Amino acid sequence: MIGIVVVSHSRPLAEAAVGLAAEMVAEDKRPVIAVAAGLDATTFGTDAMAVSEAITSADSADGVLVLLDLGSAILSAEMALEFLEPDVAGHVRLTSAPLVEGLVAAVVTASTGASLDAVVAEAERGLVGKQDHLGDSPAAAVAPVVEADRSVEVVVGNEHGLHARPAARLVGVVNGFDATVTLTDLDTGKGPVDAGSLSMVATLNAQQGHRVRVGASGPQADEALAAIEKLAAENFGDEPAQKAAPAASGSGLDVAIGPAVLVGAGVDLSGYVAGDNELGRLDDALGAVADELRELRDGTAEHGEIFEAHLALLNDRKVLDDVRTAISGGASAPAAWSEAYDGLAETFEGLEDGYQRERAQDVRAVRDRVLRALVGATSAAPVESGILVVPELDAATAATLDATRIAGIAVRAAGTTGHGVIVARSRGIPLITGIGDVEVPAGATVAFDVRTGSFEVEPDEDRVRATITERRDEREQAVVRADEPATTRDGRTIDVVVNVGVVQDAVDVRGADGSGLVRTEVLFGDRRTPPTVDEQVETFRAIARALQGKPITIRTWDIGGDKPLPFLPQAKEANPFLGERGLRVFRRRPELLRDQLEAIRRTAAETPVHVMFPMVTTADEVAWALGELGPRDGLEVGIMVEIPAAALRVRTLAKDLDFVSIGTNDLTQYTTAADRTNTAVASLADGLDPAVLQLIDHVVRNAGVRVAVCGDLASDPQAAVLLAALGVTELSAVGPQVPLVKARLRQADLSQVDTVAVLAARDADQVRGLL
Ligand code: PEP
Ligand code: MG
Repeated sequence: MIGIVVVSHSRPLAEAAVGLAAEMVAEDKRPVIAVAAGLDATTFGTDAMAVSEAITSADSADGVLVLLDLGSAILSAEMALEFLEPDVAGHVRLTSAPLVEGLVAAVVTASTGASLDAVVAEAERGLVGKQDHLGDSPAAAVAPVVEADRSVEVVVGNEHGLHARPAARLVGVVNGFDATVTLTDLDTGKGPVDAGSLSMVATLNAQQGHRVRVGASGPQADEALAAIEKLAAENFGDEPAQKAAPAASGSGLDVAIGPAVLVGAGVDLSGYVAGDNELGRLDDALGAVADELRELRDGTAEHGEIFEAHLALLNDRKVLDDVRTAISGGASAPAAWSEAYDGLAETFEGLEDGYQRERAQDVRAVRDRVLRALVGATSAAPVESGILVVPELDAATAATLDATRIAGIAVRAAGTTGHGVIVARSRGIPLITGIGDVEVPAGATVAFDVRTGSFEVEPDEDRVRATITERRDEREQAVVRADEPATTRDGRTIDVVVNVGVVQDAVDVRGADGSGLVRTEVLFGDRRTPPTVDEQVETFRAIARALQGKPITIRTWDIGGDKPLPFLPQAKEANPFLGERGLRVFRRRPELLRDQLEAIRRTAAETPVHVMFPMVTTADEVAWALGELGPRDGLEVGIMVEIPAAALRVRTLAKDLDFVSIGTNDLTQYTTAADRTNTAVASLADGLDPAVLQLIDHVVRNAGVRVAVCGDLASDPQAAVLLAALGVTELSAVGPQVPLVKARLRQADLSQVDTVAVLAARDADQVRGLL
């Protein structure tokens, strides 16, 4: 390995530069770096004799590279060569490379065992990344890159993108192979660039979440690609942020009363006086909010991805440019900021995809957080006890509320699939959505009951409190008996299991007979890179352990529609719910499914595991999935029935299966042609629509195998009785509902349920009446 010498007028300067460069590579890989700087620790100057001594101490058979700062440093170094033995002086190179950037590039490149020529070339390209970024790049310095024979795609998971240290690790790995490796940022179209050059990797400026195509050619191309994929999966060696324990949960009741706390009606800007440093004020506010969001991200165990997304919204370069331009044109910081983020929210609202549309509320949450910072108001979510009345519920508020103090949340908007709603439900906070424009004076007593769909201002408090006591007793009794089996009065035992989206769901639940649905795309939904087989096994194991080794049903990745996976970006589709969802995606990317199946098989060797495939339409797909799975070795295998075609031909599909599980959420949306994320058609998408129930009945009669239900219908105790009466033997519900569903089943006599009348009913309301 070559040696490196730094010649500078200032010793602290040289030592700091060496410290920075040394950070980039592991200690055992660092080249020898000697310093000849200053006349002493504090006096500026250079000394030829000290330079020659430094060269001697860093000397190696592979050569020595000398980096220099100004004027006399060069003269001293040239003179030093004359003091050296000719054979040593013969392999010393003085370089005009920039001191800091050149030194960093030289240390990284030297650490890979590169030749003196290669290190010199890399040091001299040290400025390229910066020049390219600032738009003053003399692109001539860029070496041509050869066409790659093969390639893989990786996603940059690192918070700050492929910044200096991860880039240095990548270069280190690349240069360890006899291969030419190139990188292309598929999100910006930049590249290909030489992955063996730190400065060229810097020009790529690949940010977090960007997909990068890694191309390789040469004798060790395959090995290089495998090593880079592994490195990318490990976040290029950066530590993931440590997450704290989850916040306490709420009462889990569906009824609440308390004084109305009106939130989110906008930030009061009336006291704001614009000054002559609006840009500076904006930057201060942005810095404070970024700190706040990072703290929230690192302090929440399960919902960190929300704040990650908010950070990305905060740093949207295009919008920030617009804001700065408006401020430079005379606008105040709050006015410019509001206008730009209102525009961004409108853009989201205009998108076709329901999931994307709901992100508008995230934009408004970020907008208000910055406005509050600008006016000096506190950004923390309100902690008053009472019922929060909010126009919409952003996930940040839902995740940071003190769930032990808040009585409930009433959301004016009707959406039920927003992040905020999902987070609040998973935390057991009583929540009603869709209360509309009803006038609520601040501090007035309000109450809601999700079971009856009522929201009242100044209700009859005694009546509401009696209902709350009743529901609390009901819940407590159900929880006390939660571990007992759900055997109906006519002697049928139904397995009541839990839906798991985060490990905590399995930890918190009481009385579950296992899990009927582990949503893997939710479990790993905050990952920017695919989880490794080991990571998946570890997570599945944790779920099984939390459920005391009872059977868990792991659903393979169900992405698409309203569920994106950051590490598996999908092309924009006109009708995502009718497009590449679930199993359909993996005929194109089978390797991701194979890894998951491997993890499932490994977990199944230790604990009872069932596997099921989502979004199945045809028998061909079942055959393909079973082929990918290979030998079953005792693993029970099933599919989800959530498409009407699958329900109708379930006998054919289930021929080689052990069970089917009905996904009523999707089965309902596909049967009624009512998008599950579109509030305008929410009343059509009713799981108790007799058409949906007829399909369920058909599945039970024709499947020839065990039939489960894992859609949300199974979480409704009344509907659970009906499903059991139709012949479903396993119901998978959200955690807080498991004891209630079991309790209701124990009270039921299934033979008394008039299923004939239910199936012949005119509509969902009539079904409810019959129940
Ligand atoms: C369903 O569709 O009912 C289901 C359980 O799957 P998901 O809600 O995850 O699509
Ligand atoms: Mg589904």
